[in-house]
Amino acid sequence: MDFGMILTAGPSISQKEIDYVLDALQNGWNEKLSEYIDRFEQEFARFIGVKHAWTTSSGTGALHLALLGCGIGEGDEVIIPEVTFAACPNVVVYTGAKPVFADIEEDSWCLDPKSVLRRITPKTKAIMPVHMYGNVSDMDAINAIAKEHHLMVIEDACPSIGALYKGKRPGSLSHAAGFSFQGAKIMVTGQGGMMVTDDDEVFKRAQWLGSHGADGSIKFWHTAVGYKYYMSNIQAALGLAQLQRIDELVALKTQIFNWYKARLGNIEGLAMNTQPEKVTITYWMTSIVMKRDFGITRDELMGKMKERKIDTRPFFYPLSDFPHFEKTDNPMARQVAYNGINLPCGVNLTEEKVDYVCKVLRELLHI
Ligand SMILES: *Cc1c(COP(=O)(O)O)cnc(C)c1O
Repeated sequence: MDFGMILTAGPSISQKEIDYVLDALQNGWNEKLSEYIDRFEQEFARFIGVKHAWTTSSGTGALHLALLGCGIGEGDEVIIPEVTFAACPNVVVYTGAKPVFADIEEDSWCLDPKSVLRRITPKTKAIMPVHMYGNVSDMDAINAIAKEHHLMVIEDACPSIGALYKGKRPGSLSHAAGFSFQGAKIMVTGQGGMMVTDDDEVFKRAQWLGSHGADGSIKFWHTAVGYKYYMSNIQAALGLAQLQRIDELVALKTQIFNWYKARLGNIEGLAMNTQPEKVTITYWMTSIVMKRDFGITRDELMGKMKERKIDTRPFFYPLSDFPHFEKTDNPMARQVAYNGINLPCGVNLTEEKVDYVCKVLRELLHI
């Protein structure tokens, strides 16, 4: 059967998104220029369970502002997982601080608290756990370490909108957090993000530095060199509609994972997303990790799948293997990162296509 190229991601756009965006396009100007932005921020804050939410032009911008809001800067060290998207170390560097890489856990693929402990120095100012592929990091352990060592915690919650940790939403489990609505994420605004915090001071500082350092009380008077990471009202209209459908979108992702799990779950040496006890995962990215010799390398497998019109993504590479960062010994990160693949899991994927992907996979893995 020819499905065309089966892609790893792709959004679900309903009539609601079209209606909101058209309305913003036609009416969202002048006195209504921030109507959707305000609604999106208010509903998002309520959904996460925090006081403040601020729309941004990307998840990267949201994370940068979260770090700035928490007072991270020159001379500080921020501990981040070795396996995550390049935005994480980059935003740390933007502030003048240094990213320090800790190892990840074998099953959750998130930051390993035991490794964090080994990376703490007198310069450590913050920990930035990343909720990989829709899982949630071990926040109880990370927050306990932070408390003992007087560190700030900033969640990279970009991939985990809609997940739960002991009944609470990621983004509400630390001092500040960033979310992403980039086109491959669970909910999309094209490009876009949201910075959230429960802390008035963190929010004030992030808002100030995120508005070119504007004083706020006197128009065009600035008291610092800041940044501009605004989202447009038109994008916020799209985001609001997606947020109002978030339960449906997470349910679709979970359904897709379950289809894969039923077909690949019992293969010896092939690991899939694992849900820790305290967590309800969003299954943003259904993924596999090859943990034994299947007679084919990870990259060969991806190449052969591409020939059969199945798009996949490699896991993020270990950051300290990049030439511009300091090599760090994180063995689990290397084992997982170089053997992991994200499978096609756009929310519009059908069971028929999952069936085809799994058939091809089993054939190529010789099982
Ligand atoms: C998507 C993502 C980001 C960055 O989001 P952008 O909106 O593309 O800037 C950061 N961290 C992780 C883990 C992500 O998955």
